[in-house]
Amino acid sequence: MKFKPADNIQDLQYFGEFGGVNPSISDSSTYTFLSAKTMLDTFEGNSDGCYLYSRHTSPSNLYLGEALAAMEGTESANVAGSGMGAITPTILQICGNGDHVVSSRTIYGGTYAFLKNFTPRMGIKTSFVDITKLDVVEAAITKNTKMIYCESVSNPLLEVADIKALSALAKKYNLKLVVDNTFSPLSISPAQFGADVVIHSLTKFINGSSDTMGGVVCASTDFINSQKSVIDGASMLLGSSMDSLRSSSILKNMRTLHIRVKQHSDNASYLASKFEKDGLKTVYPGLESHPSHNLFKSMMNAEYGFGGMLTIETGSLEKANALMELMQEKNLGYLAVSLGFYKTLFSAPGTSTSSEIPEEEQVEMGLSNGLIRFSIGLDNDIERTYKMMKDCMKQVGVL
Ligand code: PLP
Repeated sequence: MKFKPADNIQDLQYFGEFGGVNPSISDSSTYTFLSAKTMLDTFEGNSDGCYLYSRHTSPSNLYLGEALAAMEGTESANVAGSGMGAITPTILQICGNGDHVVSSRTIYGGTYAFLKNFTPRMGIKTSFVDITKLDVVEAAITKNTKMIYCESVSNPLLEVADIKALSALAKKYNLKLVVDNTFSPLSISPAQFGADVVIHSLTKFINGSSDTMGGVVCASTDFINSQKSVIDGASMLLGSSMDSLRSSSILKNMRTLHIRVKQHSDNASYLASKFEKDGLKTVYPGLESHPSHNLFKSMMNAEYGFGGMLTIETGSLEKANALMELMQEKNLGYLAVSLGFYKTLFSAPGTSTSSEIPEEEQVEMGLSNGLIRFSIGLDNDIERTYKMMKDCMKQVGVL
C-alpha cells in the first residue's frame, strides 16, 4: 500500500483526561511512583508506561513523538527543544572519538558549524562533499566513517539527496544514514527509502506559526531508546528537552500541516515558474530546469507538491538587500531567517543562515551573495503577490 503520511497521523486517536478532544497536557517535571521498586525498575528501563522525569520523557512529548513517527513511518521518535537539539545528540550518539562523518557540504549553517568547528574537539572529523555525486560520497568513506549526513532538500541551495542510493551506500559500509527533512515534510519520507534516522526542526513548517523552537529525531525504537538512556543517552544527558506545553501546542498545529504544505507548495510552484519565465535564475525542485527535478519526483508523495522553498539570484548583495527591504515595505513578507510561516520570509543566506560557511567554500558550492532564499507563505491570492513582487523587482533593477 502507498505510504500516506498525513493519514497515518490522522489515524492516531488520543483523548484528554476528561474526554477532551485534545490530549491533556502533562504539567509536571517529575512523577510519583506507588512503590519504590517501580521507581528502580523505571530507572533501569524495565517499566513500560511509567514516567520518570520530563527530561527523559513526558506524556505530552510522547504524543507528539508518536505523531511524528507516524508521519515519517519510523518505529519511534523523540522530540527536542530545537532542531539543533535533535541534530547534535544524534551525531554524538552515533560518533565518538576517532570517528568520521561524510556530510553534504550544503546543509544548514548551524549543522555545518557543529561538524566543522565543534565536533573536532571531541575527535570527530567530517568530510564535506557534494552529496549529489555518489562516487564522491563513496570515495570519502574511510574505515572510521560511522555516518552519512545530508538534508533531503538542502538549505539553502535546494539540492536534492538521492536517499535510496545513499542508503545503499550506507548499508554497504555499515554506516548510519541521517537525513534532515526540515525542508520537505510530508512531500518526502526519507525512511521509506532507507534513511536510518530522520530529523526535523519543528520550528519551521511542522509547527508553522514561528512561535516556538522544536526538533525531533525519528528512528528505530532501539536508536531512540539509546538516545534516551539515563546511562549514556546523548538526548537525556545533554538535556535539550522540549517542554510539555510546547509539545502539546505543536501537536495541535500539526493537525493542519497537510493543508499548509499543499498551499505552500502551490504558491511556491506558481511563483517559481513565473520568475523563471521572467528570466530570473530561479531554483525550485518543481521546475523542470532543476537538476534533480526527476529525482524529487521519484521520491515525492505527490499530493504535497515540491515544497515551499525557492531561491532567486539577484546579481549582488546590494540588489538582494534592496529587493528584500522593498518587499517588506510593501508587506509581501518579512526580511527574516527561518521558514514555514504563514507569511513569506526572505533572507540572503550568504550573509545570514549560511554565514558560518567560509566565503571561499560558499563560492565553491555555488552560494552567491546575491541569492535570496524564500519560504513562500500561505497567500490566498498568489497572482496578486506575484504582480507586486515583480513591481518591486523592476524598481530595484533585478528585472
Ligand atoms: N535543519 C535545517 C534544515 C534548518 O534550516 C535549521 C534552522 O534553520 C535547523 C535544522 C536547526 O533548527 P533549529 O533552529 O530549530 O534549531
